[in-house]
Amino acid sequence: MAIEFPELRSILSTDQRAAAAKLLKIAGELVNEAFEKLLNERHLYQSLNIDRNRLYKEHNGGRIGRILDQFLTQKFEKQPWLPLQKAQNSEPVNGFTFRFPNVWNFCSQCDARTPFNLNLDQERPFTTQFSAPPRKATFQVLCLPLQCQGCKSDPILFMVTRKGLKLTLTGRSEFEEVKAPEYIPKAQRKYYSQARIAFNSGQILPALFMLRTLIEQFMRSVINDDAIRGDELCKKYNETLPEDFKRRFPSFAEIYGTLSDAIHRAAEDPPLFEEQLDRISRHFEAKSVFDKNSAKAG
Ligand SMILES: [Zn+2]
Repeated sequence: MAIEFPELRSILSTDQRAAAAKLLKIAGELVNEAFEKLLNERHLYQSLNIDRNRLYKEHNGGRIGRILDQFLTQKFEKQPWLPLQKAQNSEPVNGFTFRFPNVWNFCSQCDARTPFNLNLDQERPFTTQFSAPPRKATFQVLCLPLQCQGCKSDPILFMVTRKGLKLTLTGRSEFEEVKAPEYIPKAQRKYYSQARIAFNSGQILPALFMLRTLIEQFMRSVINDDAIRGDELCKKYNETLPEDFKRRFPSFAEIYGTLSDAIHRAAEDPPLFEEQLDRISRHFEAKSVFDKNSAKAG
């Protein structure tokens, strides 16, 4: 069923009203998609933009005309955006509603990544909006309580700030948790999690430092000698590995060297982080398999 706009009957033709409804439907889908991406894939203080051109393009090949353009500004861009959990057929006079997406988040009660639902205790979310001059773009803050569907424990409150068509994740009531994989030794898992959290928050240098700490502390636990450091430690650790393992899997000595070099140069290099984390993970994963097999054989 098309959304009706009684107040537009005198200004817009039937065709234009249908076109306007279609535009708002696409806008709702784009907003839903943006919130889904922001809350599932982005981290604190990261942003994304809704592309206005895409809205035009998906509606009749890019040209919507002046009347519809004004309509879109009034009914979409200048309105507060109000998330809904189910579809409805009429638009409120003072807001633009959109279907709220599925959000997955780490739940500390369930100790897993679980689906979270929006859990509003009133018809409208806690939202604050300013659109009066001198602001060019509508400024809005949305507070979104999201609740784990597994345990239904206390919701985590997410704060999203909107400036025009730009959304930024500006807060969360519980800090983001990152669980280290099982193959990372228990005593060093906290360094893995801290490295990933630092990286997700845009702190690249501390993230590289935590990665180096992860392998350094692990090698130290294997060698069991607090006096040995750096290259010497890497060399000693390397001697504990079977030849076959050394040929097939990334070397901690090389990774340690690469990370140290980046830290000395203060190189804020996100791809380097991902690349070295991947190599470290492959080493640990293979090592846990090797250790299990040699425990069985012995
Ligand atoms: Zn839970």
